[in-house]
Amino acid sequence: MHAVVRRSVVLIAIAALSLMASAEGGAGPVPAPAVPSRDGVSVRLPSAAFAAMETIDPEHIRWHVRFLSHDLLEGRGTGQRGGDIAAEYMATQFAEYGLKPAGDNGSYLQKVPLVGITTLPQTQFVLLPKQGPSMNLKPLDEYVAYDQTQQPQSDVDAEIVYVGYGIEAPEYNWDDYKGMDVRGKVLLMLVNEPPSDDPKFFKGKALTYYGRWTYKYEEAARKGAVGVILIHKEDMASYPWEVVRNSNSGEKSALKLDGAALKVASWVQLEVAKKLADGSGMDLDKMMADARSREFHPVDLGAKLRAHMVSKIRNFESNNVLAILPGSNRNLKDQAVVFTAHYDHLGIRPDMPGDNIYNGAADNATGCGILLELARAYSVAKDRPGRAIIFASVTAEEQGLLGSEYLGKHPPIPAGKIALDLNYDDVQPLGAPEEVEVTGAERTTFYPWVLATAKEFRLAIRPDARPEAGHFYRSDHFSLARVGIPSFSINEGIKFKGHDEAWGMAQDKAYTEKHYHQPSDEYHPEMDFVGDAAMARFGFALGWEAASSSRLIGWQKGDEFEASRLKSQ
Ligand SMILES: [Zn+2]
Repeated sequence: MHAVVRRSVVLIAIAALSLMASAEGGAGPVPAPAVPSRDGVSVRLPSAAFAAMETIDPEHIRWHVRFLSHDLLEGRGTGQRGGDIAAEYMATQFAEYGLKPAGDNGSYLQKVPLVGITTLPQTQFVLLPKQGPSMNLKPLDEYVAYDQTQQPQSDVDAEIVYVGYGIEAPEYNWDDYKGMDVRGKVLLMLVNEPPSDDPKFFKGKALTYYGRWTYKYEEAARKGAVGVILIHKEDMASYPWEVVRNSNSGEKSALKLDGAALKVASWVQLEVAKKLADGSGMDLDKMMADARSREFHPVDLGAKLRAHMVSKIRNFESNNVLAILPGSNRNLKDQAVVFTAHYDHLGIRPDMPGDNIYNGAADNATGCGILLELARAYSVAKDRPGRAIIFASVTAEEQGLLGSEYLGKHPPIPAGKIALDLNYDDVQPLGAPEEVEVTGAERTTFYPWVLATAKEFRLAIRPDARPEAGHFYRSDHFSLARVGIPSFSINEGIKFKGHDEAWGMAQDKAYTEKHYHQPSDEYHPEMDFVGDAAMARFGFALGWEAASSSRLIGWQKGDEFEASRLKSQ
């Protein structure tokens, strides 16, 4: 694998030398491809970049993973000592490579202010239907709720308006609100998005961000609502009530508040919603059917929510680790390409018997090892790309992509000037991959380069097996996509050299069932980091291309992130 890639990329590197000389000159048109491929695009790595890429070493990645997942780091918990040691380790490596700090006040660290919120048992949640007795709901069994205002106490006594899916999406000509003033109201709504097989309508079967509950809370808060009640229906949520219940009990973390927020962000069981609809003289099944139409209008139920929210608020902080390699082209150096990988994991649970350290070797010491090896390789290159390269090891991913959300809102270079984010999360040390997964890349104008580069690396592109599950929205690249930056994660597919697909699937299944988010996600000396190095090289080449081309990358026309991109520029 290695030798094959080397030979084919060498040819292109040599052919590209003369072209790069002119590309360094300024922001002219994109130079003609060095070796036109079938798609009319080819990779153009200059020899200095190629030589640096060739120094990427699987054993370097192993050392980082071995250290970062050591028991002494206590699972790198956000706001815990082990997490802070991991951040210092990343910063120290960046410094040793000669990269410049890009954090707060000339340091490598960017402080991320966080808040832990626990809903306490004194909380009361009462639904008052139009007719019939009031419904005093049982926590966890019938409802879950958080106060997003980050106050120890909030009271809500407000009318309930049913807003269908609660989506306003101009690009799909869809608006559930129809201009209704919902300030001070509680909004009852469905999860997911209007069902469709048409790829032009909410991306067909694939889940868009509009279908995620986080979007629905955010949109309602932006419109001035005080609360949201999401109706849990298992097939629509694609997970059972137990998942809602587990992820909404105990402490929930958030960025310290910097915008509008809901006093009540809640879910109710389907049966509760049925009863509420009945008591208001409505039929929930019909309400759900009505919501599938473009003509849907919000409905005032004549019902109320009376809630007394009591929460424990804990302020804490953690740090993103940011370093920068300055760009070399005077017209492009105020722009950048970003590489991201979260360093946090689930920490240590002192009260748990047995092994209570969540080492997070695969998740995500591997991504950190790759990020560091990329940083080292870029820093030894004899030449630098036109744009700057930012290396960002972010915190609090496991708490809900919070470190990357903060980075997206406070980037060291404005979001509109960031060409691309390439993210690494949980890259299994299983040997040489024959495939790469780049879900979301097809939504960007960079995709022809991704295809051409994958071809040069002899990597087949593995499509997302379950687009309806919305995995694109579950790792850090998404935080940067939200502020408009073209972003995606790089990972291995299923097929590895010397094995069939079934082997790859079995490895994946065993990891998910036995080790994912378990204390047993540990380092073993027999792990093979060749695949991690292959993913690092692939990302190195993509990053260099994105940092050198004269035009900034964007989202495809009509993509849900296109508007944020245009707004940021
Ligand atoms: Zn994880």
